Amino acid sequence: MQPAVFLDRDGTLIEERGYLDRLELLSVFPWTADALRLLKRAGFALVVVTNQSAIARGIIDERFLDQVHQELSARLARGGASIDRYYHCPHLADAPVERYRQACRCRKPGPGMIEQACRDMGLDPARSFMIGDRWLDVACGVGAGTRAIRVLSGHGAAEPETPPATLMAELSRQGDAGRQVAAADIILGNLMEAAGWILRNSPR
Ligand SMILES: [Mg+2]
Ligand SMILES: [Zn+2]
Repeated sequence: MQPAVFLDRDGTLIEERGYLDRLELLSVFPWTADALRLLKRAGFALVVVTNQSAIARGIIDERFLDQVHQELSARLARGGASIDRYYHCPHLADAPVERYRQACRCRKPGPGMIEQACRDMGLDPARSFMIGDRWLDVACGVGAGTRAIRVLSGHGAAEPETPPATLMAELSRQGDAGRQVAAADIILGNLMEAAGWILRNSPR
């Protein structure tokens, strides 16, 4: 089984734009392609896991999301980097669009997208990492059995120092997941710093 780095999209790979509903809003951080290239060369599969409630809200559709990810991949390719696979959660428990109305396991902080990727791609969560700018990204990784890194790009700098009470309440169903999430808190500046940390801290 291969190790992976699971990647939040908005605020981690690209600028946080709220609901990214026009391609012109797509802005890749200048270090993203370099960081991904380093991780790929070290043997990690690269998997994006992104909450896209904009779909449940009827702001964008799945087809537009595909376009965004194709464009992101094209830009990364110019920097010699590639994403192996994209997973997204289109759901929301109270979605205005009925077909996406569901309290699912894939919406972060749920672990569903990482679990699915591990099954689909033969990935080993215990040797994998989740990188994201929010506590819910950390919780998603910890819930799926990966280590997790929180970055300060995107919403990262505005996140509270400890997991917010609403998130902890959501996690209380998962036993001591809340405590684990707090303990998993490696905070680094951005994806490039996170990549460097992973290369130094994972066995060869
Ligand atoms: Mg994010
Ligand atoms: Zn979902």
